[in-house]
Amino acid sequence: MTSHEGTADHQDSSHTFLGMGARITQDEFLKRARQRFADQFDYSQILWRSFKSPVKIRCTHHPVQEITITPEKHLQTLGGCRHCLRERRIASLERELNRRSAPERSLAKGSEAQAVKLTR
Ligand SMILES: [Zn+2]
Repeated sequence: MTSHEGTADHQDSSHTFLGMGARITQDEFLKRARQRFADQFDYSQILWRSFKSPVKIRCTHHPVQEITITPEKHLQTLGGCRHCLRERRIASLERELNRRSAPERSLAKGSEAQAVKLTR
């Protein structure tokens, strides 16, 4: 009789990575952070203690301000220091204002009546 169960090593490798954030090392954090934010942040000042202990990072666009955040939270946020968030808000506000003042608006009323008739 021959069986194919000669190797048993696939059993332990599945156990090591199950708990979300349970055993995240600095290397693993950096890998994930770079996947998510690319080069948006500078992680060279990090003093790693654990996934849930705050570390200091810097936004490469606004290096004046250090951001203190836990690695866990950092991977959950969209990234962005206060300055980034403000810039993003201003940019979307401008976009909205430009859309409102666009001349297309008066034309939209006439086309609305036709746009409803999509079914045959
Ligand atoms: Zn920033």
